[in-house]
Amino acid sequence: MGLFNRTSEPASRMPVVESAVSEPRIVRECFCAKGHSLVSNLASFGGHPGITLRLKNERQEGLLALSPVIGDKRRTFFNFERVPGEIVQICCPTCSEPLPVYNVCTCGANLVAIFTTLKTEFASCIGICQRIGCLHSEIKSNRDLRLFSRNGYFD
Ligand SMILES: [Zn+2]
Ligand SMILES: [Zn+2]
Repeated sequence: MGLFNRTSEPASRMPVVESAVSEPRIVRECFCAKGHSLVSNLASFGGHPGITLRLKNERQEGLLALSPVIGDKRRTFFNFERVPGEIVQICCPTCSEPLPVYNVCTCGANLVAIFTTLKTEFASCIGICQRIGCLHSEIKSNRDLRLFSRNGYFD
């Protein structure tokens, strides 16, 4: 609960930063559209288990581990030849279902959604780009995510 108890915040802080205060720093749990957990010990980043995804295209299939630390762009490929610019399908490692596309990346490829709650709503998801080498990602959260934060899903 310490995160929400910042007594050292300056009093002049703008009211609009409320969402920044509750921004999660580490993704503890996230899910495919069918509710399978994507956090695994395949790779860890700073001691935190990574987010594991299956990558597929017409030539190959492998795994990708993303750092669960928000803002940390580190990622590790397993059995997948990394060809920058290539577009891949990003799937759940458990059911192999492609993660749903919900937006278009600034690079022109699609952003797919990793859900941060079991409700699998696009309002609470992490978007990652299907293009190898594009590190664009975004986090969408609503009140539910902040509610989960208080319940210990996130640091
Ligand atoms: Zn799945
Ligand atoms: Zn992109």
